[in-house]
Amino acid sequence: MSLLPVKEALDRILVSFDVLDSVHVPLKETVGRVLAEEIVAATDLPLFDNSSMDGFAVRASDVISAGSATPIRLPVVDDIPAGTMPTHQLQAGEAARIMTGAPLPVGADAVVPVEETDVHERAKETTLPESVAILKAAQVGANIRKRGDDIKRGDCILPKGLRLRPQDLGMLAMLGIADVPVIRKPRIALLSSGDELTPIGQPLGEGKIYDVNSYTLGALLKANGCEIIPLGVAADTPTAVEAALANAKDADLIVSSAGVSMGVFDFIKETIEKNGNLNFWRINMRPGKPLTFGHYQKTPFIGLAGNPVSAFVGFMIFVRPVIKKMLGNPKDDRQLSRAILAEAIQSDGRESYLRAKVTRENGSLTARLTGHQGSGNLFSMVQANALLIVPAGVKSLPAGTEVDVWLLD
Ligand code: AMP
Ligand code: MG
Repeated sequence: MSLLPVKEALDRILVSFDVLDSVHVPLKETVGRVLAEEIVAATDLPLFDNSSMDGFAVRASDVISAGSATPIRLPVVDDIPAGTMPTHQLQAGEAARIMTGAPLPVGADAVVPVEETDVHERAKETTLPESVAILKAAQVGANIRKRGDDIKRGDCILPKGLRLRPQDLGMLAMLGIADVPVIRKPRIALLSSGDELTPIGQPLGEGKIYDVNSYTLGALLKANGCEIIPLGVAADTPTAVEAALANAKDADLIVSSAGVSMGVFDFIKETIEKNGNLNFWRINMRPGKPLTFGHYQKTPFIGLAGNPVSAFVGFMIFVRPVIKKMLGNPKDDRQLSRAILAEAIQSDGRESYLRAKVTRENGSLTARLTGHQGSGNLFSMVQANALLIVPAGVKSLPAGTEVDVWLLD
């Protein structure tokens, strides 16, 4: 059986998936969600001319000759806190006290900051002064935020497909959007399999190990914006596997690890085949050569190799792009860079994803492996900040070679 190239396997998997529907979600729950529609401003922002300082609204022409030695005294005719509309139209020779964010009165064209007046000791001056001395000239427009200065009605504010960040939530709030159209979270059923696997929190029996992949894969799914349907750990019997998979009905995808090699007790394959269809591929990659893809009943199924590093790398290569596609981002958005090898490395001719630490040294990136590359050695993954990619067909690379690195942080 010949080995299937990574890219070809991924392409075959991706055709089975499409972008999910959109839903409206309350704004405060949308951080990390993917915007399903472009957001266009329905109003200008700011919505009204307002002051950017605490001070006095004036007509600039009235204070043209103001200076500390030549103060200009104006009667204060109005008091405008933020959130309140002015009650007066400002006439020539008048001033109105105004706070940051308060609407500018009609007739005013500048704001003189309180520091440039004789009432700058604000604590003492809580009552409205009858008059104010302006100690500095102001230009037309000074300290005024004009309507539409930041955003014009009809401007595109946030693009479709954006993964919402905290500042985007603030922007949506500024536009008054309470319910945000986002793409539904992919629902991923997650299964571990193997008689040896013990849930953490329980004592380990002889010959047993803790279930690792549920945690790694679960965290990867969460970090990639998915909702998880936990199927737990299935024992190595057809009944246990079937019972676990029965809970995956509402899933968009089942991700399982282990139980898909050639072992006598690997029942995942058999169970899926009986209730759907399954491809078993040997991928031209390292780690994670065995990969299964198919459907359990109508639900797509990806079976990753069981060793903890293989499961992690398999997720990054085959599951992550599927999730991205469901979330409307089919582009390859991996953080790929070039780095110089600090040491010679050997490979076996398969496309290899080696655990590496990439550092910046003398202005360029340098890559070193993080210990032995056994597919069960999760510690190598823990110490890594990148996957070093050795292309298919390459068996050794001397120190100093430039290689592709996939930055993970
Ligand atoms: P298998 O494909 O079932 O033969 O599993 C391959 C290797 O991965 C075995 O050594 C398993 O014990 C190990 N393994 C499988 N699943 C897990 C898991 N969830 N956590 C930790 N190790 C696992
Ligand atoms: Mg097993």
